[in-house]
Amino acid sequence: MTIQAAQRLGLRVAVLDATSGSPAAQVTPLEFVGSWQDPEAVRRFAAACDVITLENEFIDAEVLAALEDAGKPVFPDSATIAKIQDKLIQKQHLSKAGLTVAPYRAVTGEADALACGQEFGYPFLLKARRNAYDGYGNRTVRNAQEIAGAMRELGFPQRTLYAEKFVAFRSELATLVARGRNGNAVVYPVVETRQEHHICKWVLAPARVDRGIVAEVERLALAAAETVNAVGILGVELFLGPDDAVLINELAPRPHNTGHYSIEACATSQFENHTRAVMGWPLGDPSLIVPAAAMVNLLGKRNGPGRGEDLPAALKHARAKIHLYGKAESRIGRKLGHVTVVGEEAEACLREGMAVDAALTL
Ligand code: ATP
Ligand code: MG
Repeated sequence: MTIQAAQRLGLRVAVLDATSGSPAAQVTPLEFVGSWQDPEAVRRFAAACDVITLENEFIDAEVLAALEDAGKPVFPDSATIAKIQDKLIQKQHLSKAGLTVAPYRAVTGEADALACGQEFGYPFLLKARRNAYDGYGNRTVRNAQEIAGAMRELGFPQRTLYAEKFVAFRSELATLVARGRNGNAVVYPVVETRQEHHICKWVLAPARVDRGIVAEVERLALAAAETVNAVGILGVELFLGPDDAVLINELAPRPHNTGHYSIEACATSQFENHTRAVMGWPLGDPSLIVPAAAMVNLLGKRNGPGRGEDLPAALKHARAKIHLYGKAESRIGRKLGHVTVVGEEAEACLREGMAVDAALTL
């Protein structure tokens, strides 16, 4: 989706992915196949590029730093990625900047995790520090007996972990900051998000919260973007606590799933603003151009081919915008696409988006 936005602005975009025929390679002929963890593959790709950007935070900050040392502009840069890609370091940065996060601590062995249970109470969360997404790096621990198994499932000791206090949130919120190379920043509408099994299921825009909470989310998001020196889109996930306190859950230095609604609902999509920001161009207006919108993720319902057999039935929802990513394989819970509905009222949009989801057996 970033490539499509960049192409509309006349750019040619090359993509590096570990497998050929990736969704990104279906929209550009400039395909490089290789691992982002392989410095040689990254160097070959970089040689074809004037500016480099990322669509995940998993590529090693050191690999990016080597590109910068060789004179390649990379946005977000290696210093930003180094502050974010390890979630424990990210939490430390946010706390140091005075931005509220849930209580956390490093876990270097079972004794630390037991101490977390004592300090935070049960349940608490064990999380992988790196390479986690869609909840694949999270385990909720309900009692001391579950600690060893959860650590093993998360890949400990090969994978490093940390622990977080369980937040009994009222709801989850998110926003996006688009921040240019010159530090100018704009903030997108605050949205309400629903995660099921740690995966985003739907997003409502605007969030059903009062003006004071919106202002606090905007303040935290802009301050977070400043403190990590983000360039491009920074996704900011937050918890709205039972007492209306707002905590940052995590940052994502790239276009974010909770911002997909912006394609149809905002004056400038997150993908266009990401492109504008990394190119050093003026940012577009992020405001809503409709009263309300809902986005529902289309998650795999089976293990098998990724094609939607029931697409014609879903398309009978004539106002819904269905996006299918062209992933070859479906797996239960895998993100295969999303649907956005815009309208007068967010809950009605959500009902229609859910009906589209129900009509598809991806
Ligand atoms: P994603 O890629 O979907 O953002 P992730 O793997 O990065 O997911 P997190 O954002 O850390 O994982 O967590 C996913 C979801 O799990 C959160 O949106 C929230 O619903 C739940 N969760 C995470 N941390 C906590 C917490 N400390 N207390 C309560 N719930 C939590
Ligand atoms: Mg998350």
